Amino acid sequence: MKEIESLKTNIIDNIDSQCKELFQLSHRIHDNPELGFEERKAASWLSEYLQNKGFQIETGIAGLATAFMATYGQGTPKVAVIAEYDALPKLGHACGHNIIATSSVGAGIAAKAAVDAFGGSIIVIGTPAEEIFGGKIDMVKAAVFDDMDIAMMVHPSTVNAATILALALNNLEVEFIGKPAHAAAHPYKGINALEAMILSFNNINSLRQHIKEDSRIHGIITDGGEAPNIIPSHSAGLFIIRSMDNVYLEELKDKVLNCFKGAAAATGATLKYRWEEKMYASMKNNMIMAGLFEKNMKSLGRIMEDLTPSYVIGSTDMGNVSQIVPSIHATVAIAPPNVTVHTSDFSAAAISEAGNKGLADAAKSMAMTIVDILGYPEILENIKKEFHSS
Ligand SMILES: [Zn+2]
Ligand SMILES: [Zn+2]
Repeated sequence: MKEIESLKTNIIDNIDSQCKELFQLSHRIHDNPELGFEERKAASWLSEYLQNKGFQIETGIAGLATAFMATYGQGTPKVAVIAEYDALPKLGHACGHNIIATSSVGAGIAAKAAVDAFGGSIIVIGTPAEEIFGGKIDMVKAAVFDDMDIAMMVHPSTVNAATILALALNNLEVEFIGKPAHAAAHPYKGINALEAMILSFNNINSLRQHIKEDSRIHGIITDGGEAPNIIPSHSAGLFIIRSMDNVYLEELKDKVLNCFKGAAAATGATLKYRWEEKMYASMKNNMIMAGLFEKNMKSLGRIMEDLTPSYVIGSTDMGNVSQIVPSIHATVAIAPPNVTVHTSDFSAAAISEAGNKGLADAAKSMAMTIVDILGYPEILENIKKEFHSS
């Protein structure tokens, strides 16, 4: 359709003309890193910018002070563009969320043209605390995404990809209570809580051979005793259990728990444990949306990874959104492959020229994908069919 092509040209021009402001906003957020649920500056700068471009702003979404929704247009289809803007302790914006935030804001503003042409609405949703608290999990629970038709975001990376493999996860806190005793004089009077913890690791390592390949179990010991001449009466650890399959994760959690229970029985220590209430879900990539996004990224000259993701990137709370709304969590390359996220090199990349280029290309590709979806109602129908059939 000719209209689609001219709208896409219009979008590219719109992002190019906004570039200077978007880069400034991105760098400003980068210069003022704020931890999860404390992103007051970022949330207000982003919503102010959107408000100046004609969006209606609501703040304090889902009871979260730094979550916001910025809406343009009315009615359906409702397109959610997701902005993350939290930083990491000590490392600042080493995950490049300044780019996620500003590319989504830029995309939302450029895609206004698609709403004007075809109807529907664009909602830029500010989702706090991706790194530590999984803010989107709270927002999913509060039904924020329930009436959205699709959702999308782009994370900076070292590769250009329309899809990701992100695992479901649950955190586990474990404690063993033993009994202290002099380690040389009366060791038989003690119950060794540290041995229970070490045994648990060994049990988990025995289990590891027999779990599904895309699963992960990893942990640390946070308390291992007071002194080498005292039988440790207390030990503690933090563990993360992950899998691609949300259902298999439940099965795996039982198996891991048995590793701790077995260690408790063997040593006589008492086990206490607590599963974190919030669980990250795995990413359900909508392949039709991914295909459109890929085509639009290619039109900007980017070379894309295979559409079927082949390696795990970790976990993200966008997984929880993707389980209830057809979604993509794409990536855009802003650094060479030897740079890894959550490092100071990646933080530098997030405000580099390549970072700025990534921001602009991500915004353009998302906005062009919105044009495709709002412009062809049958595409949206197929996106939903795929979502419900997989
Ligand atoms: Zn991160
Ligand atoms: Zn991140």
